[in-house]
Amino acid sequence: MSAARRVACPGCGAPAEYSPANPWRPFCTERCRLVDLGAWASESYRIPVKDAPDGEGLPEGPDAPG
Ligand SMILES: [Zn+2]
Repeated sequence: MSAARRVACPGCGAPAEYSPANPWRPFCTERCRLVDLGAWASESYRIPVKDAPDGEGLPEGPDAPG
């Protein structure tokens, strides 16, 4: 009943044990986890922010207060 589930470590691709026994899951080791977090901190994984044009186009009814 204890089939350790294994996943590919996002950091190095090595099989990592995905279970409570592995505190670094889904990474294989703490190092991979830290490396990944570091990558996120840097601009490697920068997510472009979309500028939403606001001002008009509000889905409001014709009953404007005022
Ligand atoms: Zn790894």
